[in-house]
Amino acid sequence: MSEPKYTLGQCLETAACTGCRACADVCPAVKAAGDGQLSALYRMQGLKRILGARDLNDEEWEHFAGTVFRCTLCGNCQEVCPAGIHLKDLWISLRRDLTATAHSPKKIDMIKKNLLGSRNVFDEDNEERADWTEDLDDEPEDKLCRDCAEVVYFTGCTAAYFPVAQKIPLALAEVLSAAEVDYAIMGEDEWCCGFPLLGAGLGDLAEEFIQHNLDAVVKRGAKTVVFACPSCYAMWLEHYPYRERGLRILHATQFLRELIEQKKIALKELDLTVTYHDPCDLGRTAHEYDAPRDVLAAIPGLRFVELPNNREACNCCGGGGNLEMVDAGLSADIARAKVDEVLSTGASAVVTGCQQCVRTMLTFAKRNKVPLEVLDIAQLVKKALKD
Ligand code: SF4
Ligand code: SF4
Repeated sequence: MSEPKYTLGQCLETAACTGCRACADVCPAVKAAGDGQLSALYRMQGLKRILGARDLNDEEWEHFAGTVFRCTLCGNCQEVCPAGIHLKDLWISLRRDLTATAHSPKKIDMIKKNLLGSRNVFDEDNEERADWTEDLDDEPEDKLCRDCAEVVYFTGCTAAYFPVAQKIPLALAEVLSAAEVDYAIMGEDEWCCGFPLLGAGLGDLAEEFIQHNLDAVVKRGAKTVVFACPSCYAMWLEHYPYRERGLRILHATQFLRELIEQKKIALKELDLTVTYHDPCDLGRTAHEYDAPRDVLAAIPGLRFVELPNNREACNCCGGGGNLEMVDAGLSADIARAKVDEVLSTGASAVVTGCQQCVRTMLTFAKRNKVPLEVLDIAQLVKKALKD
């Protein structure tokens, strides 16, 4: 068994837990499963044993791994922890420890196999990464894969391959073209950002992906990288040395706000009432709450109502942390709670800034025949584009 990989700070943080239960009260997994053993509080007890004697038997290891991986990594526990414990980092360290000691769920092995074999999380042919561009109104011969551009749009695995999510890059590409942005996508030269490896406890393997993607962007002469996926964006923000390579990175909501402020996008009136779901990695991780709201406010006629739990307190959609792979039922139960909260606002559409949130909420709404429109903000802006 390898040595545990926890920092001294993390060991001290574990001792600082007061048992106040604030983390359990906001945890979407605890609420959806009605199981307190999925809480940060419960997990901290197991972590103390791991940091001490590591005296868990096989059954206890397996049970403990079940709580650590049945978590969306939404960060809501960390947001409310009065002791200031960096809980999300702890969950990632725990996953690394459990994976290194062969205690992670079997399905986690698939992430490693897919990423190392195909360079995308779904084990699709990476040469088909730009095939979604064939559905653009004016199909570009080069599939938008240009060798030189000011802006690179980093598509991400979900948007590149999932038909439901492909509507987002299609919409964003139309908006970028309407704003006459000099942009390119990288097609097969784009690899997964590496975020799923972190969630699988395999963060060490992400380095190759980081270097590859940075080189691919830099060789195109781009200065700006734009992401519609908050997890790709957060991965770059926290783990890519992008500043050293002379790059600035923006989430699509920030880039759209810039384009609107620079009057490069003209918007028409939309008669629609919407609410907004803050994606965990854009909100609690990257602390970007205003850009999407500024974009919504710029659309004439649009009526906006906040969710009861918004900004830092926004409830996860159920789509994060590789949870869908480990426990699809729990992921859907979390999505149910989210959709119920959306419906309580009376809005006819929920807008977000994440392809995985769109996919999770839309899949639940469709399967359960819930009459709810689920849109990424790029789709909404495209709807509002003046002809
Ligand atoms: S990260 Fe989210 S799902 Fe995981 S324990 Fe914390 S609150 Fe629960
Ligand atoms: S909120 Fe923080 S201090 Fe309170 S029980 Fe959870 S981990 Fe411990």
